[in-house]
Amino acid sequence: MSQQKFLASQSIGSFLETLLREHRVLVPLCEGDSVVFRPFRKGGGLELTRMPTTSPKEATFPRVETLMSFTQKVSAPQEEDGGKERPEIELTEHLPQDSTVVFGSRPCGAKGKTIFSRVYDTEAVKDPYFIARRDNTLFISIACSAPETTCFCTSVGGGPADSTGSDILLIPVTDGFMAEAVTEAGAKLMESAFFDAGTQKAEEAQAVVERAETKLGQAQDFSNAREKLLKLFDNESFWEEMSAKCISCGTCTYLCPTCYCFNITDETAGNTGKRVRTWDNCMDYLFTLEASTHNPRSSKAKRLKNRVGHKFSYYPSLHEEHIACCGCGRCIKSCPAAVDIRQIVKSAQEYEDVNI
Ligand code: SF4
Ligand code: SF4
Repeated sequence: MSQQKFLASQSIGSFLETLLREHRVLVPLCEGDSVVFRPFRKGGGLELTRMPTTSPKEATFPRVETLMSFTQKVSAPQEEDGGKERPEIELTEHLPQDSTVVFGSRPCGAKGKTIFSRVYDTEAVKDPYFIARRDNTLFISIACSAPETTCFCTSVGGGPADSTGSDILLIPVTDGFMAEAVTEAGAKLMESAFFDAGTQKAEEAQAVVERAETKLGQAQDFSNAREKLLKLFDNESFWEEMSAKCISCGTCTYLCPTCYCFNITDETAGNTGKRVRTWDNCMDYLFTLEASTHNPRSSKAKRLKNRVGHKFSYYPSLHEEHIACCGCGRCIKSCPAAVDIRQIVKSAQEYEDVNI
């Protein structure tokens, strides 16, 4: 572990206020029964002990964003056009410029953007909006000291103190956090006087992480999930059974830090308009509805098969066995029908054994 510094709980508000001078700062706070990421406000509340209900992916992939705006104009009649007016479109691209700090994400939430990057930042495909936001967003994550029964990060290559995707990792200790810089940008933030190099609670921090790992228990072995799910691709009865409880509400996709599907809409008013990107939801009937009215995923069984198969089979086969799930358990905890993605994959893994 690199050098750690101490961030006192009582200094967090002042530290965040200094960040506001240069960054938009998102923090978890309570809204009703939920913990959601909202812009930090001086004197506003913070909820740093409970797992955030929503994921911090909005920082790098907003649920609604304007990609460009346009105005239709009509040029003066041109001789080469036979004296006719020629319509012209004036485009203005809205590339994100802001710098953001997400304070208080969990390791699983910060890791989500790495799963996006394998799709939106490749040799062949560059999503300039995602890339600009990702490169201008710092994650200060808090290691989990008390994982919930729905958490399974250690089963998908993560852990309660996994630093993947974070710039600073904070480990909760008495009266504050031990902070470890993960990136150069994180180290720069930790040059702030609010981080104290003189107070060392490394042993306590280590014990916190070990307790959390113990609480998570034995990791589920997903190593053969990819091929087992593929074998079940055409098994309709299996997927009908797995999806029987699902009500197609889409909560699982909206809360997931690794779901990256979107829709594009042009919104117009008179001769002006804007192109808007919004999150999409593969659990919805409309997701694959074609203009011909044919729908290749017309049943919830087919949609759930796609969601689970994408995360545990198709994505790993394209991206060096990386599972497109960080084990945060949000989809399990918030599903109104108690659908459990871990159980579905396990059922797929065990299917042949009980059906020989
Ligand atoms: S949250 Fe549960 S009920 Fe809603 S779409 Fe997802 S699996 Fe189905
Ligand atoms: S599939 Fe569920 S457990 Fe996995 S990252 Fe998404 S919300 Fe979290």
